[in-house]
Amino acid sequence: MIIVMKKGAKDDCIKKVVEALENEGYKPHTIYGVERTVVAAVGDERKKVDVMEKLKAFEGVENVIPILKPYKLASKEAKPEKTKIKIKDDLYIGGDEITIIAGPCSVEGEEITVEIAKEVKKAGAHILRGGAFKPRTSPYSFQGFGIEGLKILARAGKEAGTPVISEILDKHDLPFFIEYVDIIQVGARNMQNFALLKELSKINKPILLKRGMCATIDEWLFAAEYLLSGGNENVILCERGIRTFETSTRNTLDLNAIPVLRDRTHLPVIVDPSHGTGHWDYVIPMAKAGIAAGADGIMVEVHPEPEKALSDGPQSLKYERFRQLIEELKPVAEAVGRTLALGENNETR
Ligand code: PEP
Ligand code: MN
Repeated sequence: MIIVMKKGAKDDCIKKVVEALENEGYKPHTIYGVERTVVAAVGDERKKVDVMEKLKAFEGVENVIPILKPYKLASKEAKPEKTKIKIKDDLYIGGDEITIIAGPCSVEGEEITVEIAKEVKKAGAHILRGGAFKPRTSPYSFQGFGIEGLKILARAGKEAGTPVISEILDKHDLPFFIEYVDIIQVGARNMQNFALLKELSKINKPILLKRGMCATIDEWLFAAEYLLSGGNENVILCERGIRTFETSTRNTLDLNAIPVLRDRTHLPVIVDPSHGTGHWDYVIPMAKAGIAAGADGIMVEVHPEPEKALSDGPQSLKYERFRQLIEELKPVAEAVGRTLALGENNETR
């Protein structure tokens, strides 16, 4: 249920509502919106009607309404306005500005990671990506540098002046992720790793939750609900393509998901056209399409010598292509009422 507080309701009134819900065995989540505060509560469905009636009589309460969607906290019923997630200082995901996340598929060494970090930052990226624990199909493929890779990524981010994101595979590595990265990525293969999601729900660090390759949008929102219901409100969704019968591309980037998600959830959405297509030459058009469809940002793989990359070379953009992407993305962003700052490279053009 959602308890909608009156405009300007006092903190004391909100506190009393929260306490009453806790006493009834509900788990309240207070959401401070621009207009007013709402308290979303999840718990025993059977006594919901009685509790709702009681709460209507509380001071400062305007209305109490049931949440009809099965994923309660992720739904727009719980929070109609879009969520803006603070990453660092004045960097947010989900605001008017489009967020660009870029970097290599895998961290391959310090020198190259620092070089990529500086290049993508200069071109206009806000966040550096780099895998340290790689979920490879074959056990014989490069598995990533592990904790050492996280440390390298953190150093590269520091040198370039960008926050960093990396994928977690195992909850036992969580302390290292808390120390070294700004956003924790849950990959497609772990979208329904509920044990991992429950651990990540207990922290506050932003989580980028990729869509499972065979997951429906509702299953994906339920996975987000695991994070939200455990107390982590900083959830970002990432569409990275789904498996279909089509073999011309690695996956089928499901752009339908973007307006559908806009309709169902307040959470920000990022599009990953690198994994969504699997081919570097399809990345730019699909990144533009993603932003045109309403995504809050993109995540793309960049490598100076894709033919030598230790993973995902075929879908990685060279620096020049990445700069081209940013330039081409700017008018698209503006056409849909968003902004995109060009990097240092482009400012003088
Ligand atoms: C990645 O980002 O490199 C990755 C492995 O992504 P996904 O989980 O979408 O396959
Ligand atoms: Mn990759």
